[in-house]
This record gives sequence, C-alpha cells and structure tokens, in this order.
Amino acid sequence: MIQLSFEEMWERIIECDSKYDGLFYTAVKTTSIYCRPSCRSRKPKKENVTFYSRMVDAEEAGYRACKRCRPESEHSPNVAVVRQVKEFLVQHHKQKVELKDIAVHVGLSAFHLERLFKQDTTVTPRAFLEKVRIDRAAHLLLHTGLSNLDICYEAGFHSPSNFYKVFRQAKGLTPSDYRKTIQPKEENQTQ
Ligand SMILES: [Zn+2]
Repeated sequence: MIQLSFEEMWERIIECDSKYDGLFYTAVKTTSIYCRPSCRSRKPKKENVTFYSRMVDAEEAGYRACKRCRPESEHSPNVAVVRQVKEFLVQHHKQKVELKDIAVHVGLSAFHLERLFKQDTTVTPRAFLEKVRIDRAAHLLLHTGLSNLDICYEAGFHSPSNFYKVFRQAKGLTPSDYRKTIQPKEENQTQ
C-alpha cells in the first residue's frame, strides 16, 4: 500500500488530481463503482469511500469500473512502469531522490525513464516528486499543528528557502498564509 493517508487520498479526489491516477482507486459503497482519482463525477460522501491500491482488489470486493473515468482502460504500455515510478517517489519523497535511483529501481536508463514518464503524465519525475511534497506539506499545514520548519523537512524539502519558494509558486500563498486562509474543502463540496 502506498504511504498516503485516507485524508490525503480524499484530498486528491476532491481536487480530481490526475497526477495520482494509477496509484489508487476510489470505491464507493452506495454505487458499487470504483474510479480514478481524477474522475469528475459527483463526489461521494466520505463515509461511503474505500480506497484500494489495486483495481483487482476493488473488483474482488465487488466494485465495477466507473463508466465515466474508465479506470480499467489504461492502455498505455507504460502503465505498470509509470505506476512503479510514482509509488517509488511517494514512498521516498522525504529523501533526496535522484533520477538515477529511480532508473535503477525500475530497470531502465534514466533517459528512457524520464521520456516515458513524461509521455504518460506530462511531467518529469522530478516535477511529480515536487508535487507530492507540496501536497504533503499542504496537508500537514491544514491538519497538524507542526511548525513550518518541521513541515518543510517532513514533506521532503531540504531547505526552508526552497520550501517557501516552491510552495508559494504552486499555491500562490506562503505556507503560513495558506494555513490561515484555506479551509479543508470537504465540508462545502460534498453532496
Ligand atoms: Zn469515475
């Protein structure tokens, strides 16, 4: 299982975040359907959601693939390796990760790996890793009392200045302002 909490996966599906497609699936008890994180269908109630890291597990539990986001139709020949790279980056986001480490992990050349990952996801592995760190930081800002400095390292950034810069670029707010301004979204968006 990937190292994302229920809350973090919930936040990804509320944002219809396609960057996490392939990493986990959202199964909804009331409809018996499972979706990709990016599915744009109406959001389920939180208490009806179960997350699965594999489609086969959702199907064995009696869920059918959503007809809108079609999670079962991932036809790119690179699906498996892209998923492996995403899992590796999520699991190692706290560490310093070089492209060559990922390449060794999946058994491809760094050049080939980067090209293939970008083809399927539109971003480089490095940009994906940065996004994972930003998402983790945003989550911690909203759901914990940790200081900005603790969150910086907890999310895998290696210096506060880099953290502030990257976070601000992504969110348009400093970490402190983000914490003050943004409310967790689930209350007003679910139906
Ligand atoms: Zn769907």
